[in-house]
Amino acid sequence: MAAPKVAVVGAGVVGLSTALCIAETCPSCSVTVLSDQFSPNTTSDVAAGMLIPHTYPGTPIHVQKQWFKETFTYLFAISNSAEASEAGIHLVSGWQVFKNTPKEELPFWSDVVLGFRSMSEAELQKFPQHQFGQAFTTLKCDCPPYLLWLEKRLKATGIQISIRKVADLWELHSEYNIVVNCAGIGAQQLVGDEKLFPVRGQVLKVHAPWVKNFIRDGDGLTYIYPGIHRVTLGGTREKENWSLSPDPGTTKDIFDRCCSLEPSLRGAQDIKVKVGLRPSRQSVRLEREVLSQGGVKLPVVHNYGHGAGGFSVHRGTAKEAARLVGECIAALQGSSSRARL
Ligand code: FAD
Repeated sequence: MAAPKVAVVGAGVVGLSTALCIAETCPSCSVTVLSDQFSPNTTSDVAAGMLIPHTYPGTPIHVQKQWFKETFTYLFAISNSAEASEAGIHLVSGWQVFKNTPKEELPFWSDVVLGFRSMSEAELQKFPQHQFGQAFTTLKCDCPPYLLWLEKRLKATGIQISIRKVADLWELHSEYNIVVNCAGIGAQQLVGDEKLFPVRGQVLKVHAPWVKNFIRDGDGLTYIYPGIHRVTLGGTREKENWSLSPDPGTTKDIFDRCCSLEPSLRGAQDIKVKVGLRPSRQSVRLEREVLSQGGVKLPVVHNYGHGAGGFSVHRGTAKEAARLVGECIAALQGSSSRARL
């Protein structure tokens, strides 16, 4: 079989990192990224990009932990390299605070992040409305720079990038041997997945360079995540809401909630509002499928539905998707050598 031709649909953090992993694990493959939108116009551009996992109820915890660990290890190495600032990756320390002590005092990812510990009484004095807290150091991606860095890596590896809206995965069968679906919330229409739904998130990106530590309310709704240039203030989680228009009432509410955690934010400048639709599902869809019409087959690998945690697990799921692409190639090679016999 000639060099397998692989199309990756989607250019958010999942599509770009999956294309890169495929090129790394299968250097003989010809990989093309097809997407109707690229950075800065994807959901991935809106994200805060903090490596604090979201829990997928339908995916075993040991699998989620493996995805997170692989992602953390990958980004930690970038943060320790000369590329760190261009890639927008940096370490950030801070606190997750709770009004009531959580049932699980040790989250499954506590031994992956650095220096995880309970907060001291003295630290908790900063948060008079909270009675329990966890301190740790994690990584943060500044999302648009990280996406651009991934695109640059893809081009350097010889991957083709093309603007194209795909109406149906089958339309790619005559041009590609394998298709990888990383369409995020677009997969609802693309493959008719009714288990996939949007969870709208509105955030503010502000100039407040004195804020150096992250602060996250344990309910996950209110957070302050300092990046290299701007601080992300969040947020909202609105299930089944498809609106991409910022809501001024919500902006004020987010700002007030964040100021009650960190009063110095009252002096923040240059407030920009962003909205994104988290591609949510009970579990990430990471599996093979074979489409077939009139005896013609098209192997597909799905990798979408990362909800509120795409940045936290993207490298781990990209590696697994690349492994599944390897299985598809082995199956295609098996059937083409059988055909020659
Ligand atoms: P997307 O970024 O949406 O990319 C999908 C791509 O597919 C796009 O390029 C789109 O144009 C393309 N596409 C779709 N349909 C088609 C089609 N038919 N044909 C061609 N192309 C198509 N996660 C974290 O881990 N940490 C955080 O701190 C964090 N904060 C967040 C804050 C907010 C406000 C939001 C909204 C999300 C946050 N997330 C966070 C979640 C994270 O943003 C998502 O999980 C992640 O971006 C999903 O990436 P994706 O590549 O699957 O989707």
